[in-house]
Amino acid sequence: MAEFCSLDVVVPVYNEAQCIEAFADRLRTQLTALQIPYRILFVNDGSVDDTQAKLVKLTSGDAHFAAIELSRNFGHQAAITCGLEASTADWVITMDGDGEHPPEKIAEMIAKAKEGYDLILVQRQTGQDASFFKRATSDGFYRFIGQITSTPILPGVGDFRLMNRMVVDALVSMPEYHRFLRGMVSWLGFKSAIIPYVPAKRMGGKSKYSLKKMFRLAADAIYSFSLVPIIAALISGAIFLAAAVVVGIVGLVQGAMAWVWNASLVFLLLFCTGTILLAVGSVGMYSGKAFQQVKWRPIYVVRSRTNASFKKDETK
Ligand code: UDP
Ligand code: MG
Repeated sequence: MAEFCSLDVVVPVYNEAQCIEAFADRLRTQLTALQIPYRILFVNDGSVDDTQAKLVKLTSGDAHFAAIELSRNFGHQAAITCGLEASTADWVITMDGDGEHPPEKIAEMIAKAKEGYDLILVQRQTGQDASFFKRATSDGFYRFIGQITSTPILPGVGDFRLMNRMVVDALVSMPEYHRFLRGMVSWLGFKSAIIPYVPAKRMGGKSKYSLKKMFRLAADAIYSFSLVPIIAALISGAIFLAAAVVVGIVGLVQGAMAWVWNASLVFLLLFCTGTILLAVGSVGMYSGKAFQQVKWRPIYVVRSRTNASFKKDETK
């Protein structure tokens, strides 16, 4: 049976003033019942509503609560990374702060971990909370990414998970700037178990994952975990080159068929230009991401913190 001494729960929050207090209460009730030392570590990802004021109140009233405020909105994955870097417990849970990841599931996660697992993943079952659009885009994305990468990325497995210190340390040691944590965790391996959950309704406010943020996460996943876009560009380049040779030879032999070539010229021109631009864009995405990585900027910057400290440099 795995040793279970202490637990940190990392909760990234961005403009969650409407539900943060109710969520904190719900989480505290669950953790108190477990009777192990725990800390709830909120990472305020540059909220512009009353989230920070509510966090100050929570942390001053109960030493179980800690808060780190980032200097601006760095994004969900960066906020989780910050929380993981500040975590000190033997076990760490990451979960959303809106109640969609039900705190009531934690006891089951811990019971499973005690069977000897390093990592407990929680897989979303069909829930009525998310819109049809969100479910359809998410399912389509996971099917697509599953096809183009060799790292298994399971559908419905998000950022609600329990990790032991070994996994957390390994994850934190991965210095990549563009972070798609569910892919990184899968890449790491370790002994893992999956338990299902039905997502609950948001306790207040609305989703902070705009279409733009969803696309950015999808691009991070694709361009950090797959070379398929580049391979596809190479293959289509080879196909066009071969087609050009065939067209050239046939054109030479059958000069009278010139009108057929004329008719298809516009189509070919548009098709080839589109493919070339897609290929160049794809190369650009890889080099752009490499460019951002080699600048070695911090993944997040801390503005203030309460009951939390970092082993390493704060702005790493
Ligand atoms: N979040 C964050 N930074 C962001 C966007 C979201 O810290 O830029 C937090 C948010 O407050 C929530 C969690 O990440 O606790 C998941 O976000 P949300 O519920 O908006 O996403 P959804 O569940 O709709 O996919
Ligand atoms: Mg949510």
